[in-house]
Amino acid sequence: MMNDNAPKKYDYEDGAEQVTVSGWRCKTCNIIYVSQPPGWGVNAEDVARRCCMRTAPCSTEGCTGRAQRGYRRCPDCRERLDREHWAAKFAEKSAPWREGMLYSGPLDRYFDGPDEWEEFLEDDGFPDGGTGCVTFETARLQLTRPCRAANFSVMDFCADDLPDEGDIPNATEIDAKVNALLQGLGVLSWYPSGIPWNGRIAGDLSSSADNG
Ligand SMILES: [Zn+2]
Ligand SMILES: [Zn+2]
Repeated sequence: MMNDNAPKKYDYEDGAEQVTVSGWRCKTCNIIYVSQPPGWGVNAEDVARRCCMRTAPCSTEGCTGRAQRGYRRCPDCRERLDREHWAAKFAEKSAPWREGMLYSGPLDRYFDGPDEWEEFLEDDGFPDGGTGCVTFETARLQLTRPCRAANFSVMDFCADDLPDEGDIPNATEIDAKVNALLQGLGVLSWYPSGIPWNGRIAGDLSSSADNG
């Protein structure tokens, strides 16, 4: 029985026709952006205007600043929102340092604990906050988590080479031996935890670090 709703099929000669579509052309690179069906979230006009743009109006209401290409807000608004976001996170969950490295996102740099950070601050920053200089506030230091070797499984390791339903009889023994060796490597690296460092050292009640 024929299904009336099935799309009709054509041979090559009749299967396509030329149409005129409307869209928005980037005047720099000539790419044409065609509108998507409503609800797809793509606004062809907006995308075309932003394609090769120099600047755009800042999307913060009432702000007269200009956003650079790739951004919706002006540098001042982005900086302010970043600061507010960090301050909120700091208030919510900052914690003392216990072990491992400290990471600064704005500096894209790791410090080997509070000592190296203090040294860096003395050499390259101004603890009292000169404009444009690194301070505790601008460095936004995060605590880090240790990264150890991943858990080894010989069945996973050989999965591509084993037949379907294939088995390695002493897999458990092999895994135990290899994992013991891997854990013996200790901490391989540290990665940012997203938890702000509060400037203090765990258990150090005499710490006078007043990093507000
Ligand atoms: Zn363009
Ligand atoms: Zn702005």
